[in-house]
Amino acid sequence: MSRRNRREPNPEIGEIKIGGIRKSEELKDGGWIVVSITGSSAVKDYRCPGCDMTIPQGTPHLVAWPDYLTGGDGAVDERRHWHTQCWRRRTRQTGKR
Ligand SMILES: [Zn+2]
Repeated sequence: MSRRNRREPNPEIGEIKIGGIRKSEELKDGGWIVVSITGSSAVKDYRCPGCDMTIPQGTPHLVAWPDYLTGGDGAVDERRHWHTQCWRRRTRQTGKR
């Protein structure tokens, strides 16, 4: 098949500059891709699943998604925005001993 893999512009992708520092973390519930988002890339409020609080616009934080979604940029729906400290707490709880 020669299906062309052209990317449609996606506003969510456009908002987040995934040129940030991307790394993978191995947790008990699987591998995660974690990207640091700078304050200038955080152009709207997000809700942190760690503490269920808002991450205000302009706050540096993290975006994480399961690494089986290796497309990364195609996994927008699975991305979760975390406070940096909430993600750290999670990795301490669920990371390898
Ligand atoms: Zn949080």
